[in-house]
Amino acid sequence: MLLTVHILAGSTFALALVNPYYTAVLCFATHLVLDAIPHWNYPVPKARNLKTFYQAFGPDLIMTISVFLALLVVFRDRWYLVIWGAFWSALPDYLTLYKKEKPFKTLLKPYYNFHDKVQFEVNKGPGIAFQGFTVVILVLILLGLAN
Ligand SMILES: [Zn+2]
Repeated sequence: MLLTVHILAGSTFALALVNPYYTAVLCFATHLVLDAIPHWNYPVPKARNLKTFYQAFGPDLIMTISVFLALLVVFRDRWYLVIWGAFWSALPDYLTLYKKEKPFKTLLKPYYNFHDKVQFEVNKGPGIAFQGFTVVILVLILLGLAN
């Protein structure tokens, strides 16, 4: 699932729940549930340099930052919930950046296997459509939470 959708979901849950402990657990768990919904992911490059990183992650990162900043503006009175939810919902993918590095490679191996196993990747068209539908639901919830 795109990082943009994860950030949007995490911030939405944090704003709805308010409790920081429930939010952390729910956002982390929901990330894995969202990964299990049919979705499209851009291919992750094998080479690790700035150019290939930007080509692969750039559009999603720009959308993620834009959504994150928009949420901070709209919910400026609850900015800390937006940051808290975004952090916990992005953490599961952030951890995968260290998949091949010691000591994470060994310590988090069961987690990495689980994260890989729950992925339900489909072709771009339906994959984007499912994510779009998820975004619509999240935005509707957010509209209910905005004052
Ligand atoms: Zn993930």
